[in-house]
Amino acid sequence: MPELPDILLYTEALQRHVVDQVIEEVTVRSPFLVRTVSPSISSLRGKTVIGIQNIGKRIILNLTDEVHLVFHLMIAGRFKWRPSGTRPKSRNDLMCITFPGGVLLLTEVGTKKRASLHIAVGADELESYDPGGIDVLTCTVETFANALRLENHTLKRALTDPRLFSGIGNAYSDEILHRAGMSPFQWTSRTSDTEAGTLLSAARSTLGQWIHSLRDEVGTSFPEKVTAFRPAMAVHGKFGMPCPICSAQVQRIVYGDRETNYCPGCQTDGIILADRALSRILKKDWPRNIEELGRTP
Ligand SMILES: [Zn+2]
Repeated sequence: MPELPDILLYTEALQRHVVDQVIEEVTVRSPFLVRTVSPSISSLRGKTVIGIQNIGKRIILNLTDEVHLVFHLMIAGRFKWRPSGTRPKSRNDLMCITFPGGVLLLTEVGTKKRASLHIAVGADELESYDPGGIDVLTCTVETFANALRLENHTLKRALTDPRLFSGIGNAYSDEILHRAGMSPFQWTSRTSDTEAGTLLSAARSTLGQWIHSLRDEVGTSFPEKVTAFRPAMAVHGKFGMPCPICSAQVQRIVYGDRETNYCPGCQTDGIILADRALSRILKKDWPRNIEELGRTP
């Protein structure tokens, strides 16, 4: 699922490509995509995109007449920018918005169509799509520590909870915890102020570094290689490979259709968590699935 760095890259690219452009035509090809009834899709024709924003992992096209297109890409949804005249043809092409300067496609690979579009009217309705998580790039350490300890959860679950923190999912939480040298299973109630500070610095430097390198990669074009697995990541998607810091073998916890990775050398005092304690934690306090956490109102 695209997380904060990829979401920001999408919003910046959309700024460059569709702001100030008039919607000429909207074609929706998946019956599952649009989750609101009114306003209708056909009423979008003729409206101008006046801004782009994100609310956590949601990407929003602000249109004239206070209409907002609220997209959640979920796991496999992606935006593509294509030359004028491009017609949607693959069954993965869920939606197509035609502008004078090109075509914005929304695609989703796979049989499970989870990506969603809600059409909101007015600021209040738009705000209802905000799960409430704080922005770790700008918050104070006190705000961060308070949010972290609001409820007693594992650090992994707290970091990926969109009600607490904005835009962090499975991949970047792995990277942040690794950089902080903290266990994904540590309880938030047992996290000191100093540890909260360490975790916040790790979150900022990890996200900041990725935003920077993705900006370099994308330049002024449109992001095409959006993935949760990147070769330069330290532990996420690196099961069995040596940790770049201590060379210990990166471990994994498979839960549902997702995998969490950590380094026992850097994060858990060499302990590999595979006993009954682990299954208890997995039952009780583990992010169950991204859909559940990213639930829409
Ligand atoms: Zn390590």
